[in-house]
Amino acid sequence: MTRRVLVLGGTGEARRLAAALVADGVDVVSSLAGRVADPVLPPGEVRVGGFGGAAGLAAWLEADPVAAVVDATHPFAATMTASAVEACATVGRPLLRLQRPGWTEQSGDDWRWVDSLPEAAEAVAGFGSVFLTTGRQGLAAFAGLTGRCVVRSVDPPAPPLPARTTVVLARGPFTVEEELALMRQHAVEVLVTKDSGASMTAAKLTAARELGLPVVLVRRPRLPSGLAAVATVEEVLAWLGAQPG
Ligand code: NAP
Repeated sequence: MTRRVLVLGGTGEARRLAAALVADGVDVVSSLAGRVADPVLPPGEVRVGGFGGAAGLAAWLEADPVAAVVDATHPFAATMTASAVEACATVGRPLLRLQRPGWTEQSGDDWRWVDSLPEAAEAVAGFGSVFLTTGRQGLAAFAGLTGRCVVRSVDPPAPPLPARTTVVLARGPFTVEEELALMRQHAVEVLVTKDSGASMTAAKLTAARELGLPVVLVRRPRLPSGLAAVATVEEVLAWLGAQPG
């Protein structure tokens, strides 16, 4: 097994990977962007803050003896993923992408796929009560909405926000019952979400299904071509085990 590993994190699976590596006696350093004021920290060493683009990450890798990099950032953290590809190619370190599968539509679902947050805003413009679960960043795309909006995020969102916004500060996971109660309380008519995948935040989709509500889903950005990707922590451990020590 590789001696020291950099995990680009900010996700539940990145924390699970760090925990598994620590349990295996691997020296792991997890990197967080620093967006959340009070993040859930993974076990092992943690560094916080951007690297300064691909060049900054390449310089960091030159200065640190990590033997491999695992990009376990969120499926929508495309800038970090692109930086990791470029930096690892520059300094010649092996890189693997850990990315959870997206969500799958079930019979009876009314899912409406869009390619961006502005397209999501267009898709919900006619609704009277919109539940926005796309995260704190990028909410400006919805600022022109005139219906009631419920925005849920871990930290308070910054303006501009839709004029009739109720902010719900909460950190998942949420149960289906909690999601049903919130949606009923605010008489939600449509749910907006990124295709984040993972069971931790899937309860909102189950609740929308039970209430017969449409869901607007933002498609994931494409992974850079040639980037090796796996879906589970176990596959990452197997890959690391096959790397030269
Ligand atoms: P992004 O747009 O891809 O990245 C923007 C910049 O943030 C990067 O260029 C990098 O700065 C810095 N950065 C991002 N992830 C980092 C990491 N793990 N360690 C150090 N620097 C990082 O990313 P984002 O969408 O803003 O996401 C930021 C963080 O939140 C990520 O760790 C991601 O896993 C997590 N997250 C994102 C979402 C989402 O919906 N996008 C949802 C949940 C969690 P430099 O260029 O200076 O290196």
